[in-house]
Amino acid sequence: MGSQESLPGVAGTALGGVAKTALGAAAVRAAETCRPDRLFDDPYARRFLDAAPEAFPEEPASAEDRAALGPLAALGEVFYFHAVIRTRFYDDYLLAAAASGSRQAVLLAAGLDTRALRLPWPRGMRVFELDLPEVLGFKETVLAGCGSTPRCERTIVAVDLRGHWTGALLAAGLDRAAPTAWLAEGLLIYLTADEAARLLTGIGELSAPGSRLAFEQGDIASSALLTQGRGLPAMAEYTSLWKGGLGQDASRWLSRHGWRPTLHDRAEVAAGYGRTTPAASGGGFVTAIRTW
Ligand code: SAM
Repeated sequence: MGSQESLPGVAGTALGGVAKTALGAAAVRAAETCRPDRLFDDPYARRFLDAAPEAFPEEPASAEDRAALGPLAALGEVFYFHAVIRTRFYDDYLLAAAASGSRQAVLLAAGLDTRALRLPWPRGMRVFELDLPEVLGFKETVLAGCGSTPRCERTIVAVDLRGHWTGALLAAGLDRAAPTAWLAEGLLIYLTADEAARLLTGIGELSAPGSRLAFEQGDIASSALLTQGRGLPAMAEYTSLWKGGLGQDASRWLSRHGWRPTLHDRAEVAAGYGRTTPAASGGGFVTAIRTW
């Protein structure tokens, strides 16, 4: 295993606020991992949930109970779909970047992502995981109990990505002269437009030509469903965290700042994986290559 900071955090401690969203993504990966037609295998996702049993209410058992949830169920379906497709899409993106020569990847807001442990990385690959201290503390405690072994050189860096984080990443060993595969998965929505632009500016400053970057673009659901969701008390814990990121402006921002972006429609990506898109789903991904 690569270098790791010693961080506070105890398995079983509730992760609150935006940190809890990492558990939500892990819950989706745990469920997907149980499917016979799964798009990826994440054996660690269930371990994170088991370590935080108080995090989510029981799933309704019957179809009637689920139907009674109305828009909440529709949002749940869209979120599940979104998180599954993006996990697989970014798995493929990162492995393609590694295959084309990048030997370092930076997972911004890595949360409880276990790609460092589960993907077949090429020899010499270094993966940096950045997130808030409480998330990484919880993660390391759970992974230590799994006896897990990374399949690359794995380094965690505890930072607030709204602040000054680039120095910590350089100090942790990122080589700014070499191309990097950057991933900001499930992050920008929790940042304001200014915070997102600052984050992307920092990424640009550390990106050698040929570096790559990927993140989500656009709303994950129709505006009607999102409006309904914002009105649901049960969703307030999550919707209050949504700050919008760069909104629809992301690819224009990238073009103006030294990147060549490509947009990927989520429904088309899903179709390529043999998955049907739920009616109220929307949005997609942007991938970009550093040109300067
Ligand atoms: N990428 C992971 C995944 O898909 O499983 C986690 C996604 S989760 C929806 C959002 C993550 O963003 C959480 O782990 C949260 O702690 C992290 N995050 C949000 N704001 C952050 C900030 N200002 N600095 C560092 N991490 C942040």
